[in-house]
Amino acid sequence: MEDFIQYIMPWLINILRYFIIAGIPFLVFYICFPKVFSKNRIQKRLAKKKDFLREIGHSIQTTIVLAVVFILFIYSPLRAYTQIYDGLTSYSIWWFLLSILLALVVHDSYFYWMHKTIHHPKIYKKVHLIHHKSINPSPWASYSFHFYEAILEALVAPFIVFLIPMHPFALFIFAFIAFGINVYGHLGYEIAPKWLRNSILFEWVTTSVYHNLHHSKFDGNYGLYFRFWDRSMGTENPDYVREYDKIQVKRFGSDKKRSHLKNSVATGLFFLLLGMGKTTAQDSILGIWKDDTKGVTMELFEENGKIYGNLIAADSKKINEQIKEAKNTTLLKNFQKKDTGSYCCGTIYQPQIKKEVSATLTLHGTDSLKINATYMGIKRTRFWKRLY
Ligand SMILES: [Zn+2]
Ligand SMILES: [Zn+2]
Repeated sequence: MEDFIQYIMPWLINILRYFIIAGIPFLVFYICFPKVFSKNRIQKRLAKKKDFLREIGHSIQTTIVLAVVFILFIYSPLRAYTQIYDGLTSYSIWWFLLSILLALVVHDSYFYWMHKTIHHPKIYKKVHLIHHKSINPSPWASYSFHFYEAILEALVAPFIVFLIPMHPFALFIFAFIAFGINVYGHLGYEIAPKWLRNSILFEWVTTSVYHNLHHSKFDGNYGLYFRFWDRSMGTENPDYVREYDKIQVKRFGSDKKRSHLKNSVATGLFFLLLGMGKTTAQDSILGIWKDDTKGVTMELFEENGKIYGNLIAADSKKINEQIKEAKNTTLLKNFQKKDTGSYCCGTIYQPQIKKEVSATLTLHGTDSLKINATYMGIKRTRFWKRLY
């Protein structure tokens, strides 16, 4: 009986962890308060009940695979060859904590390369397609893997237990943190605090938008916890930061105090460490801009070689109502690059007169955009500030 409990325990812990850590956010964000968190929602499309059931079914299978691999290492003679140590005093408390961080780094590296490999067209359908059936993932998708992928996911265990001296309790904490971040990546809602965007941490760690983009676009953003591998291998989705900012501007409004200097330092440091000396100069008109006097934020993007601007947020109630009434959120249309820093022959929508009027855009430096438009017989100039 004792033996039976010993063997069934890892699976019980695994499945309980799955239903509690994925179940609570599901209840909060999908069942009880979806309206409260509507601004946090990453994709417009909604996952259906059949998606949740498919995700849960595959996840239960994954918990069994993970438990079997765990038992194989802990209760078999292989245990003697692992670096797992028993006495809490064998290593310092600092090592106890550091070993958890190291395990996350090893897991992230293993995951990046394994994940990139299973995206190979010859392997993808058989191994990874099940996970990508969740185009808009829910917390239940966190373990939604094909049987083969579940084995590959579990095989990170030997890398960790043979490489890093870890106390079983540190392993236990690692497993909880790892699954917690996994659920956050599949949440479907961005819940990152506002301060993250201006901190150096943003340059290093992934967010829910990060992994969500992997699900909606099918490639890029292969990393699990850190942006390191994607950034250094050039596989990060170029729209990531813009998509992240779009949601955070919706949630918190635009941040006038955003420190570009801080971000540049963080990015510079990152590439310096990589030894690439690369920086992300913002000489493009694309990005997120704000008209401070009117309190309007829009995103400029390119489509078929032309520049368009979509409204993201309007601080003023009046403008919001005017735009809502006109059902027009594409403020700028059809701008073409004339020469460096100047774009012509497009239109800007004026909610006050409900009309599109011709305009010219000119970049001033990297962070200021001049928009010239003539309407009601008067030539008007407005300066927009870059938020990202
Ligand atoms: Zn994938
Ligand atoms: Zn995923």
